[in-house]
Amino acid sequence: MKTRRCEHCREHLGVRHAHNARFCSGRCRNAAYVERKRAADPLPVAMTRRRQWVRHTDRKVPLSVAGRRASLASSTDSSTWCTYKAADRSAVGAGLGFVLTGEDQLVCIDLDHALVDGELLPWAREIVEGLPATYVEVSPSGTGLHCWGYGCVGRGRKLRQGEKAVEVYDRGRYITVTRRPFEGAPSKLADLSKVIADLL
Ligand SMILES: [Zn+2]
Repeated sequence: MKTRRCEHCREHLGVRHAHNARFCSGRCRNAAYVERKRAADPLPVAMTRRRQWVRHTDRKVPLSVAGRRASLASSTDSSTWCTYKAADRSAVGAGLGFVLTGEDQLVCIDLDHALVDGELLPWAREIVEGLPATYVEVSPSGTGLHCWGYGCVGRGRKLRQGEKAVEVYDRGRYITVTRRPFEGAPSKLADLSKVIADLL
C-alpha cells in the first residue's frame, strides 16, 4: 500500500485527507508557506517593514524609485526612499540598499575584504564568531560582510589595523543589500552594542 506523508511534518496522510492532499492540516500548509518565503527572502522583518529602501548602480550610486522615474537618492532625504516592496519590484540599477537613519537603532558592521576565494580571513572570523545570532550577508563584491543588528555609534566609525578593515554605521548612509546570507545567518537582528564597544 502506498503511503503518503505531509510535506511539512512528515505525518502519514490517511483516508480523511483528499487523494491529492500535500499537508496533514492547514497549519502545516501555512508553516510550509512561511518557510518557503523565508528561504526565498532571508531579510529580517525589522528591515523589510521600514520605508528606508533605495536601489543602487553597480558603482554603488544610490537611486530612488520613490517617484515616477528613477533618480538619485540621498541617504539624508527620506522622500527619495521607498518601501521594501517597491524597491524589490523595481528593476532600476543593480541592486537594493537600506538607509540607516540613526533613529531606529539599526546598525551595520561592515567587514571589508573579509573573504578571499570564499574563505573568511582569521580577523573577520574572530568578529563573526563573537556575534550574537543576527543577520549577516555577503556584500555585492563577494569579498565583504555586512553584519546587521541594533546599536548606536553616532558618526560612522572606521577601524583599520593591518588587513583588518571594519566600519560601523548607524546613520546618514545607505548600505547595499544582497540577500545572500553568510553561513546560514538567521533572519533576525540582535543587539550588537557589546560587539561594537569591543571593536571601537
Ligand atoms: Zn503536517
